[in-house]
Amino acid sequence: MGQDPLFLLTKTPISRGQWRLAVGVLVALLAALLVTAPFAQVPLENTEGLLLVYATAVFIVELITAALLLALVSVQRSLAVLALSIGYLFSGVMVLPWAVSFPGVPALVNLSETGLQTTAAIAMIRRLGFPLFVLAYALLKESGPNARPPKGWQQNIIFGSVTGVVVIACGLTWLVFTNDDTLPRFMQDAQKVSAVWNFVAATAAGLSVAGLAVLWTRQRSVLDLWLMVVLCTFLIEICLLAYLSSGRLSVGWWAGRVYGLISSSIVLFAFLSETVSNYTRLAHSVSAERRAREARLTAMEALSASIAHEINQPLASIVTNADAGLRWLARSDPDLSEARAALTRIVNDGHRSAEVIKGIRAMFTEGTQDRVPVDANRLIKEVLNRSLSEVKLARVSIRTEFDERLPLVTGCPVQLEQVISNLIANAIDAMSTITDRERVLRITSALHGTDEILVSVEDSGTGMAPNSKGRIFEPFFTTKPDGMGMGLMFCRSVIEAHGGRLWMSDNEPNGAIFHFTIPSANSPATINLTHDHRWKVAP
Ligand code: ADP
Repeated sequence: MGQDPLFLLTKTPISRGQWRLAVGVLVALLAALLVTAPFAQVPLENTEGLLLVYATAVFIVELITAALLLALVSVQRSLAVLALSIGYLFSGVMVLPWAVSFPGVPALVNLSETGLQTTAAIAMIRRLGFPLFVLAYALLKESGPNARPPKGWQQNIIFGSVTGVVVIACGLTWLVFTNDDTLPRFMQDAQKVSAVWNFVAATAAGLSVAGLAVLWTRQRSVLDLWLMVVLCTFLIEICLLAYLSSGRLSVGWWAGRVYGLISSSIVLFAFLSETVSNYTRLAHSVSAERRAREARLTAMEALSASIAHEINQPLASIVTNADAGLRWLARSDPDLSEARAALTRIVNDGHRSAEVIKGIRAMFTEGTQDRVPVDANRLIKEVLNRSLSEVKLARVSIRTEFDERLPLVTGCPVQLEQVISNLIANAIDAMSTITDRERVLRITSALHGTDEILVSVEDSGTGMAPNSKGRIFEPFFTTKPDGMGMGLMFCRSVIEAHGGRLWMSDNEPNGAIFHFTIPSANSPATINLTHDHRWKVAP
C-alpha cells in the first residue's frame, strides 16, 4: 500500500473509519450542546475555585500536544507543523494568566492590580490566536520544500520558537495586566459581557470558519481531519460562551469550558492512538522477525543435527571395518582378500555418507531428489542385512512378513533406507532394557488400499509414555541420554516428501509400532508429487 511502516499523524491518509469516528464525535458534541442549551442560563455560583483545576488541565494538555508536534517538526522539518505547535504552546501558556486574573479565583500571587477587563483581554488573545495559528498551518502545509526550515536548523528553530512564544506571552500578559484602564470594555461587570466581546467572539468564529474551509479543501492527513474537529468544537465553545450562556459561571459558560478542554485534547488523543497503533505494529513486526529468525535457526540446527544423526551410523561402520582391515593386515600371514573386503565396505560406507549428506541438503534446499522406482521389500532386506551385527549384539529376534506382490514405489532409495534404518535402530533401543520377555523386531509390508504400500516396524520394547506420544516427531525431542531427537522428524519429512504418512501406535501387549505408507509408482498421488516437499520443521 506504500504506507509508512510507522503511522505518522501528518502523513497517514484519512481512512473511512477515521471519518466515521470524527463525524461520530461531532454528532455527540452537538447532541450534548442541544441537551445543555435549555439550561445554559442557569447560574452556577461560587465555582471560581474550579477554574484553577480547569486551567491547569488545559495548560498540561496543550503543552504536551505542543511538545509532540515539535517532535514531528524535528523529524519532518515542516513549518506548517511548527506554526501549529506554536499555536498550542501559546494557547497553553496564556491560559495561566487568564485563570489567575479571573475575578474571585484565589490568587497565588498578588494580583490586586488586575482590573475588570484583564481576564477578558487575555481570553481574547487566546481566542483569536489559536484559530490564526491553525489557519497558518492549513495555508503553509502545501507550500512545498520552500516552507521547510533548512536542514540542521530544527534545534535552533524549535528553541527560538519556544523562547519567542514564552517571551511574547509574558510581554502580552504584562501589557494587559498593567493597562486595564485603556483596554476596550469587553465586560459590563464581573459576570456579563458587552457588545465588544460579542464582536471578538464573532471574529474568532470567523477565523475558525476560515481555518475549517482551508483545511477542508486541503485535507490530506489524519491531523487535518482532527484539526477540523478541533475547530468545530472551538466554534461550539464560542457559541456557548458568547451567545447561549447568561454570562460567566453559568451552566452554558461552564459547558463552554468543557468544550474548550475537549478541543484542547483532541489532537493529543490522536497522538495517543497513533502511539498505541505504532507500538502494536512494532511489537507485531518484532515478534514476526523473531519468529522468522527462530525458524531459520531451527532449520539450520535441524540441518546440522540431522546430518550428524544420519552420518553417525556409516561412520561407526567405517571405523569397525577399518579396525578389521588393520587386523587382517597385521597378521603374520596377512589375509589380503579379507582386508580388501573391509576396504570395499569402507568405500561403500563413504559413498553412502556422501549420498546421505546430499539427500539431506536437497531436502532443505531444492526440494525432492531424483526419484527412481524402488522395491520396498528389497530395500528393507538390504537394511536388515546391514544391521544384522547390531541386531545380534542386542539379542533381538527378527520376524518379517513381506507381501511379495507389493507394487514398486517412486522415491529416493537412500532416504527411504535411512527411514527404515532409523525405525529399526529406535526399536532396538526401546528393547535394550527388556529382560523379562523376548525382544522381537517384526517388520511387515502390505498393500494398503489400492495404490499404497504400508510398512510397519514393531517392537516389544518399553512402548511410549502417554505424554511423549504427541512430541516424538518434534525436532530435538528425545528421552535417550545420548539421543539427538532428530530421527523421527527426519523420517516423517522423508515420508511426507514421498507423498506418504508416518505414524505411531501402541503394540499389544508391549512396545510400539511405527507405520508408514507411500503411494505406489503408478498412483496419481505419486505422479502429482511436486517439488514443494521441502524440509518441514515441526512447529
Ligand atoms: P532419538 O532416537 O535421537 O531420541 P528420535 O526422533 O528417533 O530421536 O526419537 C525420539 C524419541 O521417540 C525417542 O527418544 C524415544 O523416546 C521415542 N521413540 C522412538 N522410537 C521409539 C520406540 N520404538 N519405542 C519407544 N519409544 C520410541
